[in-house]
Amino acid sequence: MQGTHTRKGHDTQPQSAHIYDVIGVGLGPFNLSIAALAAEKASLSTLFLDKKAHFAWHPGLLLNDAKMQTSFLKDLVSAVDPTSRYSFLNYLVTNRKFYPFMASGQTTISRLEFSDYLGWVVSQLPNVAFNQEVTAIEQSDGVFKVSVGQQQYLTRHLVMGTGLTPSMPECVTPFVGKHCFHASELALRDPQLTDKRVAIIGGGQTGADVFQHAFDGEFGHARELNWISRRANIEVLDEACFTDQYFMPDYVNDFYQLDQATKQREVARQKLTSDGITSDCLQGIYQRLYHDKYVLRKPNWWNICPNQSLVAMRQDEDGYHITLAHGLTGETREISADVVIMCTGFKRIVPHCLRDLQDQISWDEHGRPILSADFCVDWQGAPHNRIYMVNAGIASHGIAEPQLSLACWRAARILNHVAGYTVYDPVEHRNMLDWGMATQASQERVSSRLIS
Ligand SMILES: Cc1cc2nc3c(=O)[nH]c(=O)nc-3n(C[C@H](O)[C@H](O)[C@H](O)COP(=O)(O)OP(=O)(O)OC[C@H]3O[C@@H](n4cnc5c(N)ncnc54)[C@H](O)[C@@H]3O)c2cc1C
Repeated sequence: MQGTHTRKGHDTQPQSAHIYDVIGVGLGPFNLSIAALAAEKASLSTLFLDKKAHFAWHPGLLLNDAKMQTSFLKDLVSAVDPTSRYSFLNYLVTNRKFYPFMASGQTTISRLEFSDYLGWVVSQLPNVAFNQEVTAIEQSDGVFKVSVGQQQYLTRHLVMGTGLTPSMPECVTPFVGKHCFHASELALRDPQLTDKRVAIIGGGQTGADVFQHAFDGEFGHARELNWISRRANIEVLDEACFTDQYFMPDYVNDFYQLDQATKQREVARQKLTSDGITSDCLQGIYQRLYHDKYVLRKPNWWNICPNQSLVAMRQDEDGYHITLAHGLTGETREISADVVIMCTGFKRIVPHCLRDLQDQISWDEHGRPILSADFCVDWQGAPHNRIYMVNAGIASHGIAEPQLSLACWRAARILNHVAGYTVYDPVEHRNMLDWGMATQASQERVSSRLIS
């Protein structure tokens, strides 16, 4: 299966004289969902560009048995078009593994298999191209001009899907190098941890995955393993059935209409619905620890330290020295490490290629774009040329925005808005809960969709 991650896609030859309806910048799963749905509709002319030489989904974190947090049914297309040839079910059947898959009893699949599915979709799409780094975008003469090296492509609308950027505390940045790096590069670096003192910083899913793989000796058997988390404990993903209602279109539509301060508060409160660690993963780690400590009775070689934040770092001939501050006692202490793996998440930055348009786009006080309900950027440029953004609206659309759950619903909303008619029914209806925050306008929108 490994080799399939190098799938390149069709031999797409982007055309520089043609005016596309949409050019998508970046081909992660979110723009890929739009590309897959658009490819089925001949009426839309689309092209999706990625700077990578071939498709790859977070390749540095495709750790051996790391699992998805979301169901395989939340694929690129099924929630709006289950008959699409790009569904996960079709991937299983076409790759001759439907029955073995069913017998495996999995409800969530490995990241490796999900990545393989994405690569399989890419390999069939006529509207994607790789080795295409978008370096600049300008708007004139009624079109966007999208520059890739010396080439320029023309489009009426843009969808920015350039993803997030690894985030590190400022005090760590000067030490970044061979032995101190962000977890997003882990599998690509293939570090040698044998007999090393290893510090893993960050208590989310990535921290847990990295701890588990380091504990299992996947990169060699470490001498000492410290897992540090700012969180109050090692915290589980909240994936209860009622929590899942946050990841449904009716909730997002209602949420969109709340005032900004309320939205911010709610997103913070719902953090563990997407940033916690799956209970399977935690159980697996806990059972390993129990076996190591109480059955094998090994001398202490690992520590898990919640409620402790990295606040300073220094380096000398004895390695890295990390100052930790305790969240409850306020006390500080220092630990030492030969290898530091930062599992400190990702941040949103303004894509460099937007610099010529940046001043015409409305940003909030935190530098986030102001988005319409249809993910369209508020900008002062030509109104007939629109810029859409995916994975940029957690502040406006809520906690589901950086997640796969609603990727194809959002794709349908964007394609409908681009086309000006219903290309795909986004399948919006009231689900289990009466959130009590729908305005008259949103209720009318939902009921008119139900009637039509
Ligand atoms: C390890 C990991 C596991 C995750 N697992 C789950 C999960 O199980 N369930 C879930 O719901 N969510 C999960 N997520 C969250 C989210 O679904 C993923 O991060 C997802 O990849 C986001 O997709 P994206 O399309 O926004 O961006 P990305 O996947 O980051 O893709 C962005 C693409 O843009 C390209 N690009 C950037 N700049 C340019 C440019 N100038 N020109 C051309 N191309 C450019 C990049 O090469 C890249 O391919 C996970 C995240 C991580 C990090």
